[in-house]
Amino acid sequence: MRQQWEVVIGLEIHVQLQTRTKIFSGASTTFGSEPNSQACAIDLGFPGVLPVVNSEVYPKAIAFGLGVGGSINLVSAFDRKNYFYPDLPKGYQITQMDKPIVLGGSVEIPLADGSMKTINITRAHLEEDAGKSMHEDFHDRTGIDLNRAGIPLLEIVSEPDMRSSAEAISYARYIHQLVTYLGVSDGEMSQGSLRCDANVSVRPYGSDVLGTRTETKNVNSFRFLDRAIRYEIARQIEILESGGRIMQETRLYDPDRDETRPMRSKETAMDYRYFPEPDLLPIEIDHAYIENIRRQMPELPREKANRFHTDLHLSLDDARVLAASPALAEYFETVSGQCGDAKLASNWIRVELLGRMHRDDLEISNIPVSSSQLATLLTRIRDNTINGKTAKDLLDALWYGNTTSVDDYIKDNNLMQVSDNSELGTLIDRIFDENPKQVEQYRAGRSRLLGFFVGQVMKETGGKANPALANDLLRKKLG
Ligand code: ADP
Ligand code: MG
Repeated sequence: MRQQWEVVIGLEIHVQLQTRTKIFSGASTTFGSEPNSQACAIDLGFPGVLPVVNSEVYPKAIAFGLGVGGSINLVSAFDRKNYFYPDLPKGYQITQMDKPIVLGGSVEIPLADGSMKTINITRAHLEEDAGKSMHEDFHDRTGIDLNRAGIPLLEIVSEPDMRSSAEAISYARYIHQLVTYLGVSDGEMSQGSLRCDANVSVRPYGSDVLGTRTETKNVNSFRFLDRAIRYEIARQIEILESGGRIMQETRLYDPDRDETRPMRSKETAMDYRYFPEPDLLPIEIDHAYIENIRRQMPELPREKANRFHTDLHLSLDDARVLAASPALAEYFETVSGQCGDAKLASNWIRVELLGRMHRDDLEISNIPVSSSQLATLLTRIRDNTINGKTAKDLLDALWYGNTTSVDDYIKDNNLMQVSDNSELGTLIDRIFDENPKQVEQYRAGRSRLLGFFVGQVMKETGGKANPALANDLLRKKLG
């Protein structure tokens, strides 16, 4: 019988903190500058320089810790992790080993079947980023850009609680959402602001010992993370099923070839010769400091979604979609508040707005329709000025910049919905006169022809008939 394998995944997520200057120096953190223009003597660890901790990093790390319900260490300290790599010319990385700022915590992730699963967090610690090796444009050589050296990172380490790549993606997405909500990070994955190391192993179903894992480093998109994990699972199962053994090693995902490749055999903590960073004192904080940060925390995505569900009566699915980013949630709340119909606002944003955004590759922050424009448009649906069909055309007019005023556009183009009983009645009588055969067939039982008559009414009114009223009148007159 074929062996059934259970997949085990733990993620280490490196989040670049959104600070103006680096974690131990005053050098700028701006992305995309000329290579090596933003690395100073401290970032490069020149002899005689001394690091100073950037006071912006603690509140951010603590906000994250509180956001996952972890405990905040009142005394945390930095350590040196010694290794040499071209992108780390000072020969060590300053990190937190024994006394990280955050211990424990957990998050709830949604699974495909709609249920939730708890993923536990081991710890989150502060450290400095390394520089970046650049392989393109340097024939047979590697370029080094040290602008990234010293950018503050929060490394979030999960327990090996995930059982599929889908769960790992769901978890990584949640962490991404949380850190952007909290303003801990800008979350720009294409710029490397959030990078995942995927630890993957497999074991026979029912076993309670962990299999040997590999660690695939520095994956910077959810799609690549999914592919890297799947590749790794398949590779390991194939080796085990043909009687081989998994080597504990660090691997690299190559998106061009869609495969992972060995990078180096796995170091152990011993190899790094960790010791307390002699140039930095431990950091002590008190409860008041933590409580002050707690008070300033915004509503978290899950809380927001629950509120949309409970107070505004949206489905949980709608609520989660609309709470996905602070900007989208704010847009929705403005529209909903101004037009007075949360369900209508939710439908229009989910279907019409998100659809157009996806099609045109736009973010909520740069769409051409403001929340108050959409609110006015929905208000005109609610007060029966226009019908849904006209409203969609009007949304396009706003979207493509053909108008900026909903009410002017309705007036100028005479788009008011025809809700006049006698006007529609006269029109319907004429349509019956012109289509006697269809009237006869309908009366003989072909009730599906109602759609034909509605279509005629819409055609004759230029799409402006009040659809509910037209339906009503048609049914009545057809008997
Ligand atoms: P290291 O510090 O050497 O990278 P850790 O023990 O701190 O190792 O684990 C790092 C990550 O690997 C954690 O997210 C953990 O959950 C995960 N992990 C540990 N063992 C396994 C395993 N056998 N299979 C999958 N993931 C694992
Ligand atoms: Mg590791």
